[in-house]
Amino acid sequence: MDNEKRLGYDKEFDRWYAYDGCDLGATCTPARTVFKLWSPEAKRVELFLYRDDTSEAYGRQALKLGGRGVWSLAVEGDLHGVYYDYVVETAAGEARTADPYAAACGCNGARSMAVNLARTDPEGFGTDCPPPASPARVIYELHVKDFSYDPDSGVPAQYRGKFKAFSWKDGDGRPPLCVEHLKSLGVTHVQLLPIFDFGSVDEAGDGRQFNWGYDPVNYNVPEGSYSTDPADGAARIRECKEMIQALHQNGMRVVMDVVYNHTYASDSWLERSAPGYYYRRWEDGSLSNGSGCGNDMASGRAMVDNYILHSVMYWAREYHIDGFRFDLMGLLTVELMNRIRWSLDAVFGPGEKLVYGEPWRAADSPMEPGAAPAVRGNAARLDPEIAMFCDLTRDAIKGDCFHGEQPGFVNGGSGLGETILCAAAGWTGGVGDFRPRACSQVINYISAHDNYTLWDKLALCAGGTPSYQEYRDDLAAQNKLAAFIMFTCQGNVFFQAGEEFGRTKLGDANSYRSSPEINMLSWERAWRFGGLTDYYRQLIRLRKALPGLCDRSPEAGKRIKEGTVHRDGVVSFQVEGGGPCGQLLFVVYNATGHDYAIQLPHGRWTVRADGADADQHRPFISQNNWANVHPRSGMLLMRSAIT
Ligand code: CA
Repeated sequence: MDNEKRLGYDKEFDRWYAYDGCDLGATCTPARTVFKLWSPEAKRVELFLYRDDTSEAYGRQALKLGGRGVWSLAVEGDLHGVYYDYVVETAAGEARTADPYAAACGCNGARSMAVNLARTDPEGFGTDCPPPASPARVIYELHVKDFSYDPDSGVPAQYRGKFKAFSWKDGDGRPPLCVEHLKSLGVTHVQLLPIFDFGSVDEAGDGRQFNWGYDPVNYNVPEGSYSTDPADGAARIRECKEMIQALHQNGMRVVMDVVYNHTYASDSWLERSAPGYYYRRWEDGSLSNGSGCGNDMASGRAMVDNYILHSVMYWAREYHIDGFRFDLMGLLTVELMNRIRWSLDAVFGPGEKLVYGEPWRAADSPMEPGAAPAVRGNAARLDPEIAMFCDLTRDAIKGDCFHGEQPGFVNGGSGLGETILCAAAGWTGGVGDFRPRACSQVINYISAHDNYTLWDKLALCAGGTPSYQEYRDDLAAQNKLAAFIMFTCQGNVFFQAGEEFGRTKLGDANSYRSSPEINMLSWERAWRFGGLTDYYRQLIRLRKALPGLCDRSPEAGKRIKEGTVHRDGVVSFQVEGGGPCGQLLFVVYNATGHDYAIQLPHGRWTVRADGADADQHRPFISQNNWANVHPRSGMLLMRSAIT
């Protein structure tokens, strides 16, 4: 096939060559290992075998071309722990490549490893299962290294910043401080920043290097720098499974942050095994850059979509992953996202696995003809159980995330009352290009790994020298009110690890490769800001107790009644059937610096939350049902009787 043709892979090509089998890679049993590589334009594919991660090859054998561009070879004997790579010869020349479908690899992922996956299971993994699903979805975004890098985490030095920190226990069977903290929050899901093998951290380094990890190298292998031995291909798999098992045992489900929109380098294993196929190109042959990271995977082509779907299903089955957060989902197609949703539903049960993502992209990208991007404007074409990060909620509550000093509702912004009411109703009325099919499609959040932490943003907006390190009552009150709003909106709730104790990155708005000290969770701070954490714990309990706040049906928005902007900075609304027995809820947000008196509808009321305690049961006693809401605080009341 000539070069011009290769730049324009089309449906005709896919009709001839797309392969639907799930056996690409190395299938390793005690009797033999079968190697299969999809490389439709190769003239020759040769397998090289190695005793370990660094030695010279001890064997080489040619693969045979079968149907649909699949090259294969069976090697007799038990190859578990044997390393391998390929030489692929195409019209573009000869390339050495690791296996893009590999389930295991050595240090820095340059060599693949044959692995008998049953031998990587930790004890009890066969019966591992997630805790029961909760109607309230509260997702906690956590980076493996951030979690335990701080010596105050209570994790022994050799396990700090690693998968092992999650599963380690002391001689008395007690988990470290950081795990105790996580357990005590009550979040339903932990979303881990990339744990697949990424390229930006040297696995042979001294452990001081830091990166978020949005730069995939081996999609189906855990990251080596989080394991105790990156050169042993089985260690990272076992330790990653131990982490997931430990999180399940501690009552949390596990969501994986997946980056199928681009790869670390455009000269990836995918590119080397099928040159030109996996990435989008402009007409002039140059790579598109809708990811802002140098290349875009060509979702919409059959084998790209098969690859991504296979990878998702693999992590769900093999590692018991409970959900997937798609980075720059707007670069993937609506068709693929629905296919992933429905495939997960078919195997694991409807809605059992979470699927959500960023409904945007960094720049334009040439999609396949007829393909629709999974962006916010296409919410109506996506399954109702594919959710989207809602930057509208985020920016309304605390201010624009790109303009540090621009305030939001809780810290002095004006004219935001109506927007806050839209957020409370889960955006079901629709605004602009965002018309969600149901609240299930909405992820409300006020901070994530990108941009300023919530505390830093509030400190910047307060003017003067930002109070990053020191606790300040006024900032804490803003923080509490911001969380109060987020936890009383319809939709799913998401927050960045450490938001509950005023996490600071000292004003660093993009810490993707900053020092581990800037990024790590400070457990001294967690202790010092403990009152704020208590407030988050109460909000989580409150939300779990009020099913009407977590209604994911298309009707959820209709529960929100009597939305009123009383004055700039004061908003109230009612939630019909919000309580556990269908009671009416009354919610007020007072972002002003003054008390605000508001009259409740008739009936007897119980205060369930205010600025001091977000999980209480205090009879509300007042003349004529006037409620006084303190400055910079929220109040939630539940009607206990109509008369
Ligand atoms: Ca790596």
